[in-house]
Amino acid sequence: MNFLQYKQGRLHADNVAIAELAKQYGTPLYVYSQSHIANQFMAYEQALSHRKHLVCYAVKANSNLAILSLLAKLGAGFDIVSQGELERVLKAGADPKKVVFSGVAKSVQEIERALTVGIKCFNVESEAELERINQIAEHLNKVANISLRINPDVDAKTHPYISTGLRENKFGISYQLAPAVYHKAAQLAHIQIVGIDCHIGSQLTELSPFIDAADRILALVAKLKADHITIQHIDFGGGLGVCYDDEVPPTPAALVKVLEERLDNYLRQNPDLNKDSIEILLEPGRSIVANAGALITQVEYTKHQEGNHFAIVDAGMNDLIRPALYDAWMKILAEKEPHIDDKMYSYNVVGPICESSDVLGKQRELSVAQDDLLVICSAGAYGFSMASHYNSHPRPAEVMLYETPTGQSKAKLIRAREALSDLWQGEIL
Ligand SMILES: *Cc1c(COP(=O)(O)O)cnc(C)c1O
Repeated sequence: MNFLQYKQGRLHADNVAIAELAKQYGTPLYVYSQSHIANQFMAYEQALSHRKHLVCYAVKANSNLAILSLLAKLGAGFDIVSQGELERVLKAGADPKKVVFSGVAKSVQEIERALTVGIKCFNVESEAELERINQIAEHLNKVANISLRINPDVDAKTHPYISTGLRENKFGISYQLAPAVYHKAAQLAHIQIVGIDCHIGSQLTELSPFIDAADRILALVAKLKADHITIQHIDFGGGLGVCYDDEVPPTPAALVKVLEERLDNYLRQNPDLNKDSIEILLEPGRSIVANAGALITQVEYTKHQEGNHFAIVDAGMNDLIRPALYDAWMKILAEKEPHIDDKMYSYNVVGPICESSDVLGKQRELSVAQDDLLVICSAGAYGFSMASHYNSHPRPAEVMLYETPTGQSKAKLIRAREALSDLWQGEIL
């Protein structure tokens, strides 16, 4: 269910009028639906409820503390890619034992901190990283739980910039080298092998790449078992796509079903193993938060020249970079419901940034005037978390919509709009 709906001709988010939110909190403004986030997470939970599992929300999709805390309370684990994300999840009340640490460039300080707080496991992306983790663990007199992130060399059939599971990508350890690196890990005194991991890309709208990756990973698990290396969990990564336009991505339940089929098949072939011998981990980000969020922006000017129509708005690539970075298409709705007799133009919706790529949407049929509001849909993932100060604009405020026990829809500020002075914080004159 979409949390954005027209009521009496005006756009509402979870029953709260967009115009009211813009008036109270200003624009540009990110809004999120608490119930939508919870429902998406629970869809994964329910699909996996009958077996050992951990759903590790990929923090980078949206790292606001209120969202992390909501998910922590629902029992989520977290997939982090930096110490900053680790400190965020700890601050939000997460259990470090439910944290997995991905990323190709983990620093000494990051590894030390993760070992000190006792995370569930490092998703190791190179042999050199494995050696570094072993050394630091020895120094701290600890044993590090690790899983190797394997690059299964499958085509995720998504945008090249968000595809991560091909041989030429920087991520993970190559499929061919994986057994040798596992054998090496087994020799290291301060390393404990606990799992295997992969993540092949993002915004995947078909199941076949997930199945291909699962088959490759399970073949490796079988080979490792024959070599007496025990895998306690398989992390199938994140990457499930969402509907931005007319995509029909598989549901979390459909994804879990095909992964379970493959895993159960493997377990059946190994009578010494039972259903709880291998825990399933997933690392969804986008599919939990993307369609739970929207970016509200106000039209500063319209400009019509030489057959081009521009809606120039107060949000830009500094607030939401996906269209500029990946050529991503995101739906744009007018706050006022379009009327059949409105004068429509095919607008390029553009931001204030001094870059030609600062476009939020191209050729959108809209009827807008100065000071009208527009809403960029599906902006809950890779929206605010990728926002910058480029062109010295303070970052937007963020608001969470929630339901009171009596069933009323309310809005709560979860990040204050930055002040101008935040722009030069830490700078030295
Ligand atoms: C980004 C990322 C994810 C989440 O991907 P989504 O497409 O947002 O689900 C999961 N795991 C790793 C290692 C990632 O880098």
